[in-house]
Amino acid sequence: MGAVSSYPARAVVDLAAIRSNVRSLSAHAPSAQVMAVVKADAYGHGLVPSATAAVAGGATWLGAAQVPEALALRAAGLAGPRILTWLYGPGAPLREAVEADVDLSVSAHWAFEEVVTAARAAGRAARVHLKVDTGLGRNGLTASDFAALLPAVLRAEADGAVRLVGVWSHLAFADEPEHPAVRAQEVAFAEAVRLAEDAGARLEVRHLANSAATLTNPSIHYDLVRPGIAVYGLSPVPQLGGPADFGLVPAMTLEAPLVNVKEWPAGAGMSYAHQYVTERDTVIGLVPLGYADGVPRHASGTADAPGGPLLVGGRVLGVAGRVCMDQVVVDLGPGATDRAGDRVELFGTGAGGGPTAEDWARVAGTISYEIVTRIGPRVPRVHVDSEPDARVDAVPSPSAENEVRA
Ligand SMILES: *Cc1c(COP(=O)(O)O)cnc(C)c1O
Repeated sequence: MGAVSSYPARAVVDLAAIRSNVRSLSAHAPSAQVMAVVKADAYGHGLVPSATAAVAGGATWLGAAQVPEALALRAAGLAGPRILTWLYGPGAPLREAVEADVDLSVSAHWAFEEVVTAARAAGRAARVHLKVDTGLGRNGLTASDFAALLPAVLRAEADGAVRLVGVWSHLAFADEPEHPAVRAQEVAFAEAVRLAEDAGARLEVRHLANSAATLTNPSIHYDLVRPGIAVYGLSPVPQLGGPADFGLVPAMTLEAPLVNVKEWPAGAGMSYAHQYVTERDTVIGLVPLGYADGVPRHASGTADAPGGPLLVGGRVLGVAGRVCMDQVVVDLGPGATDRAGDRVELFGTGAGGGPTAEDWARVAGTISYEIVTRIGPRVPRVHVDSEPDARVDAVPSPSAENEVRA
């Protein structure tokens, strides 16, 4: 499997935007280090090129949900940054992670036992971050399990099996900074940190803030912030501000050429089930991206409610009718002069009023995170660099236009 490089539709990812976004995030959290979260193929942007750009922008840590993602970063030659991984089940390749100098989160007693076993097999101390569930109700140790496990972790540290590097947690309402649950989690987190430090832990990093908290809640930046979506230039709090309000630039542009243009009569349906019917003689265009490529079927359009936005020839139109597996149709309007081969942009930086991933999220009833991460593996990611001279020389960078297979 892999992207067919000659496929006309593509997701263009500007590495300069990723570098600049990390610099902006550092400026929002001047007292903290930045962990760029690159899980899920860097939110669909391509793991290694995106991670490399984030490091060039100043990220000293990379965050990967899954162990194989973390190992892939090391295998690609990213040796400098610290890497943390946090989501695994019994039997995960933790020994390989320890050998690759990947930090491991521990969220359960069984996980701690497996980390110790892995460290002994690797012959070196595992770097551990204890995750405490301060109220999200997802992963992490409950406060009482945290207190119960802590002495065993410190004993294992004294034995040389582990190094307790961090205590961390994740917020349920970071995107609603005024929500009382945020304050309650802050208090619970401070309590867990105090418990660990009182017991003798010498923590390198305490960390709680995702993108939203990095941008809106300086009091909880601690030693390390963990932005994901903002690294890619999308706002984690669209109700409070768009990317530009936070100094961010969307990195991904999803585009395709028109592959068919034709006249279509008044009163005629378009696409499956004729959910959209033309009002007048018009010209329609075909765009070769569909739900298999991540275009949400919920962004289908009717005459009353236009579907997901498309920039065609300088105007923003809506998907007309059902989003299909491989394609969508657009009503170009009477007398339209667009031609096969003309470029259609589904979303991009939003400059000049163009559509954004956030616009698609609104139409589809979801969040921009889902719009970019769901772009399918057959869509080539084309990495470009709009500011090649600004690259940090010490960091290997992909060539100016480099198609990366998913
Ligand atoms: C995904 C994730 C992040 C990044 O979240 P954003 O909202 O994308 O900034 C941070 N921490 C954890 C534990 C995560 O799972």
